[in-house]
Amino acid sequence: MIKLRQVSKIYENNIIALDDISLEFREGELIILKGVSGSGKSTILSLIAGLLKPTSGDILVDKKHISKLPDHFCSQYRRDNIGFIFQKYNLIPTLSVQDNISLPLVPLNLDEKELHDKLESVMNMFTIAHKKESMVKNLSGGEQQRTAIARANVNNPKIILADEPTANLDEKLSREFIRILKKLKSANKTIIVATHDPLFFDLDFVDRIVEIHNGKIVCS
Ligand code: ADP
Repeated sequence: MIKLRQVSKIYENNIIALDDISLEFREGELIILKGVSGSGKSTILSLIAGLLKPTSGDILVDKKHISKLPDHFCSQYRRDNIGFIFQKYNLIPTLSVQDNISLPLVPLNLDEKELHDKLESVMNMFTIAHKKESMVKNLSGGEQQRTAIARANVNNPKIILADEPTANLDEKLSREFIRILKKLKSANKTIIVATHDPLFFDLDFVDRIVEIHNGKIVCS
């Protein structure tokens, strides 16, 4: 479903972030992208999300060439297919839970009922409906995490990308994230988690661990 074919990414000053990598991710797979900081994990996620273009090589999602899409199609592709969970959540602290979660839906101009149904469904799934009117800045860490995950899922994307999701979390919240990950996996999402947190390395519901070092795949 997701294919990277001989992909290289060279940033300014000739920094080689990815060096001729080929990878495939099947529908419904949960993959851990493992590697130390600077190894190229975020670059892979940004390429799959259509946020970056490769310097060379191809990226195909459902046989569509993401790497060749013009920018305005990239945002539509992202809206329809991708849920991104960021390390620092990227929530807007002065907006309510439901306003944060509804942000990805704004361009869709849904009618009120459709909007309400989508929000209720995702807020219930991630147990945050009871806080829907609260401002994000007044939430606990766990509630903020569930709000960010609900926002990433509100479009019902097929693909979930998580970049170092537990980097700022204590052990309890990290384990909570793992529980949510299992739930997403059982909803048949294709999930790629970029991390160097050992907590992810021996989970029985992970399909594969792909290891990256200095922009090259060392184990997949
Ligand atoms: P990771 O997610 O594993 O920490 P990254 O994909 O963020 O790795 O980075 C891979 C390499 O590319 C690193 O050397 C990093 O410094 C470099 N890099 C990442 N983004 C940029 C950028 N926008 N401009 C220049 N170099 C970058």
